[in-house]
Amino acid sequence: MAGMQQQSAWIGLGANLGDARRCLAEALRCIDAVPGVRVAAVSSLYRTEPIDAEGPDFTNAVARVETELSPLGLLSALQEIELRLGRVRPVGIHNAPRTIDLDIELFGNGPVSDPPRLVVPHPRMHERRFVLEPLLEVSPDARIPGKGAAADFLPGVLSQRLERIGPFDWRNS
Ligand code: AMP
Repeated sequence: MAGMQQQSAWIGLGANLGDARRCLAEALRCIDAVPGVRVAAVSSLYRTEPIDAEGPDFTNAVARVETELSPLGLLSALQEIELRLGRVRPVGIHNAPRTIDLDIELFGNGPVSDPPRLVVPHPRMHERRFVLEPLLEVSPDARIPGKGAAADFLPGVLSQRLERIGPFDWRNS
């Protein structure tokens, strides 16, 4: 990989069906196995109330990856992993909901605009405690291009329910 340009990207992970911890851990192992992507840091696991979504509480985390993929290359890899892991098909139930959501929150230092396929920073990240709090755990100085320091948006979302479950041993969960 010598000579290839590495960039940091921050991925938001969420699940609210089935064994969410296992599903997020498996997703991280799949991400780490993608050629040109390395999982560099993972936040704690958090339990959070559904925002813009239905159903039981979510389990969330944020990972920082180092990657030589383009933003769209990373998005396709994540979507493939979502498809591979993300559909629980209980017997007799078709179109069961997705169990896993993988979003690119930040990529490098800049915005990426290729709507509707990819918009980075994720347009709603600054309104979501389930993104901001794990992101700040991994990268306290994170900046949201066009908006400013991620930490400045945390006070505005503290009314959203969030509970830190504990460290995430994703290699062994
Ligand atoms: P969702 O079902 O909420 O995960 O939305 C997935 C859709 O959002 C896909 O069609 C993606 O192409 C698109 N999308 C746009 N920006 C992003 C982003 N930053 N991260 C992940 N998906 C994105």
